[in-house]
Amino acid sequence: MGTSYRYDTTIMKRQVHKNVKVKRGAHGLGLFATGPVKKAAVVAEYWGEILTEEEANSRGGKYLFELEKQKAIDGKSRKNVARYINHSCSPNCEPQEHEKQRIFIVAKRDITPGEEFGYNYGKEYWDKHIKPIGCRCGCGGKGPKRWR
Ligand SMILES: [Zn+2]
Repeated sequence: MGTSYRYDTTIMKRQVHKNVKVKRGAHGLGLFATGPVKKAAVVAEYWGEILTEEEANSRGGKYLFELEKQKAIDGKSRKNVARYINHSCSPNCEPQEHEKQRIFIVAKRDITPGEEFGYNYGKEYWDKHIKPIGCRCGCGGKGPKRWR
């Protein structure tokens, strides 16, 4: 086994919870629960082409997800259901990086039908893309408590 490998995005089965659906919400498209989702369940995998840091920096875009080891996933494909999960300053989900450079968006608590999924995009993204237009997650534009 080499120390570096490319992840074949064409053959790997992607995880998406059966109780999730992309819907138009109060703030544009989002991902919503159509049934109960248990704490610690995978809501959706955030997947796409894996880029080096250099490739990611030159390509740019709003759907880059940084991985450990100076890599990033470009999740811009509409087939990547997880890209519809909006930022939340008090999120009910969190991203977890697993082996083989995969990101799973996981429920932090039991989620009830009708709830919108959200996770914290991180301070860098928030400062750059969300703060300037005003956060619409319900925080009143202030961001997560621990950043104030
Ligand atoms: Zn917010």
